[in-house]
Amino acid sequence: MSESAVSYPGANDPIGARRTFAIIAHPDAGKTTLTEKLLLFGGAIHLAGAVKARGENRRARSDFMKIEQQRGISVSTSVMNFEFKGWTFNLLDTPGHEDFSEDTYRTLTAVDSAVMVLDAAKGIETQTRKLFEVCRLRDVPITTFVNKIDRESQDPFALLDEVGSTLALECVPVNWPIGMGYEFKGCYDLIGKRLLLVGKENKNLEPEVIILDKGLDDPRAAEMIPAAQLAKLQEDIALIEGACPPFDIESYRQGHMTPVYFGSALKNFGVDELLKGLGEFAPPPRPQPTDKRMVQPTDKGVTGFVFKVQANMDKNHRDRVAFLRLCSGHFKRGMKLKQVSTGKSITVSNPTLFFAQDRSLADEAWPGDIIGIPNHGVLRVGDTLTESEDLRFTGIPNFAPEILRRVRLGDPMKAKHLQRALEDLAEEGVTQVFRPRIGADWIVGLVGPLQLDVLAARLSEEYSLQAGFETAPFETARWVDAENPRDLHDFVEQNRGTIADDREGNPVFMARNTWELSYIEKKWDKIRFHATRERH
Ligand code: GDP
Repeated sequence: MSESAVSYPGANDPIGARRTFAIIAHPDAGKTTLTEKLLLFGGAIHLAGAVKARGENRRARSDFMKIEQQRGISVSTSVMNFEFKGWTFNLLDTPGHEDFSEDTYRTLTAVDSAVMVLDAAKGIETQTRKLFEVCRLRDVPITTFVNKIDRESQDPFALLDEVGSTLALECVPVNWPIGMGYEFKGCYDLIGKRLLLVGKENKNLEPEVIILDKGLDDPRAAEMIPAAQLAKLQEDIALIEGACPPFDIESYRQGHMTPVYFGSALKNFGVDELLKGLGEFAPPPRPQPTDKRMVQPTDKGVTGFVFKVQANMDKNHRDRVAFLRLCSGHFKRGMKLKQVSTGKSITVSNPTLFFAQDRSLADEAWPGDIIGIPNHGVLRVGDTLTESEDLRFTGIPNFAPEILRRVRLGDPMKAKHLQRALEDLAEEGVTQVFRPRIGADWIVGLVGPLQLDVLAARLSEEYSLQAGFETAPFETARWVDAENPRDLHDFVEQNRGTIADDREGNPVFMARNTWELSYIEKKWDKIRFHATRERH
């Protein structure tokens, strides 16, 4: 890696210039602060605090629901498009609450790389790990940002070790902290051989940058850094150069190696370098798998898939907006696209591109971009749209619920209304719905308890339905199938009391507990039990 390797693509290579990524982090690691700083550096926002308001609200349970209802706020920040030095970035927000969220997981199917933010004092936390595992399933390349180095932190070598051993990623530091916590003086940029020092006048201003022609032997280093800290830094850098492998862009892009940035989002350390690193190393739009072939971003025809649907973005309309990740072709406003699952043609006359503060009509878009398509519930999560070709993108999963609840209505006369509401909300991915083969009640499946609150609030506010949720006798569910349809038929017949159908009529086995699930799995060895299911 050297500074001269930096290339700034610009408008003559719109596909090569696109970087579509998400930030994965455990709550509180600093995702919101980093997002805000990336947008500031990218020139997309001018007011610090715009993203933060949301970050702070989100922490309280009740505020989270208010936010859910105030779609204007949460949505304008769920995809953000901005430019930096000739690259076009699409930053996708992964909802940060503590629950395992399907929405988050699906969002990760729409990115080409991810930034993993760690709190320097805490290292890898539970949510970081879960989100990382999803990235690994798709070999999404990871860039690591160790945040909050201006506070008391773990030893940087220990952090590298932790990432290396718990996530099996080879770490290559790009910069290195000079002291941490009270001793924090700034960072040494290993690529540019620069010192970035905490400003003397105002600690919140941009770091002071000093370019060292002779690296750390440059006499200016000794002028700027106390002798003991400089000696420690020289020792650290020698150790890194001896012990860390050289950065290998291919290995990073295949998901084996991670460049590590130490920084402080709050104090603007490492953010500029991170953005530059994303531009230079992170992959442009990747080829995407379909049931027929790999779709290359350079393919002529427009293709894309819906990874998220959101209702009530505009309170005055009952419209839904489907978020389409473009995978190939040059999209232009007014184009007709085919919904492959139904064969229906949709004229995309008012597609939206998302900027940090507002949404605006997109006249054109390229692979890697996310466009919002307003529609009346026609488009669903997992849908493929193409200019004409019949193919379907794969790998956009549903997850087996971890919580099952029976829905009870205050007013039984509203059963039909409930069915429609649940189907609508299931379509958005707010919940999953199951219809038991025996009995009349619906069962909703959720992947985290917060989702239940959101579901109840939306049923009440948007559909005027007062529903209660009772513990179902089941704890978990698995989609079932078998090589031989007879085996599946026998299984379903002999377990009718614990079989339900999902929204698309696929059979689901509901287990009272994990012990029962593993017992049944062993007993019925010709049946396949799936914890995830892809939409077709
Ligand atoms: P999120 O939950 O991951 O979005 O985290 P936030 O960005 O909301 O940050 C959580 C808390 O950590 C807030 O109080 C931030 O001000 C603070 N914080 C974020 N980044 C830094 C940093 O680099 N240094 C310090 N000292 N605090 C930070």
